[in-house]
Amino acid sequence: MIGIIGGSGVYEIANRAEIIETKEIKTPFGYSSEITILSIGNKNVVFLPRHTGSHSIPPHKINYAANIWALKELSVNQIIATNAVGSLDLNIPPGSFVAVDDFIDFTTNRKKTFYDDKVVHVDVSEPYCNRLREALVSNGNVIDGGVYLCVDGPRFETPAEIKMFKDIGGDLVGMTGLPEVVLARELEMCYSSICTVSNFGASISPNKITMDEVFEIMEVKNNELVDLIFKTISKLPENFDCSCLHSLDGSGN
Ligand SMILES: [Zn+2]
Repeated sequence: MIGIIGGSGVYEIANRAEIIETKEIKTPFGYSSEITILSIGNKNVVFLPRHTGSHSIPPHKINYAANIWALKELSVNQIIATNAVGSLDLNIPPGSFVAVDDFIDFTTNRKKTFYDDKVVHVDVSEPYCNRLREALVSNGNVIDGGVYLCVDGPRFETPAEIKMFKDIGGDLVGMTGLPEVVLARELEMCYSSICTVSNFGASISPNKITMDEVFEIMEVKNNELVDLIFKTISKLPENFDCSCLHSLDGSGN
């Protein structure tokens, strides 16, 4: 099964596909966000809006562990996640799509592992699935690779923080990418993130962008993003193997 984790503004995915059923999944970590099974092309796809359907849960309160566990329970083995981000690079302007290939984790107080009771060190030398990233890049105008730096939020970053994040190697800054990618890896699922740049980080661009402009960009880009995801899904093979599916081999598990 393919899963889509939709970030802010990507909820219209469910409006553009046939809805088979909607349900809540109870997990050992509490309830996941409401899940909808969609038919996209001839494939059944699990859609999970990260902030729940009405966008009511802020990034630092999302139950990432329950969400990933629920997808695993529904036999999802490949996830396309969407994330809205700020750019730290003048060469990655608002409106860009980036399929990221690495991360820096500045989050705190989030449940970061399923392995609290035994010692498991999962490998994240390639934290995002290369196979899914290549599929996304080959089906749209998508920048191949970038470093996603994750903060807790919900406030935006200061100019000094943005300068530091850029200096230490971040390309994009967001609030929802971690620990989601790591939890998926711990459950041996392929996970990719397609990021939509909504704005430049504080002080990166000399030109101030208004919130109205941000909303305008996101509205146009979200439609393109759904097209890209549907096209990518239609081309993903049903049967495949990937190193992500064996990520616990040699991890101590
Ligand atoms: Zn993979």
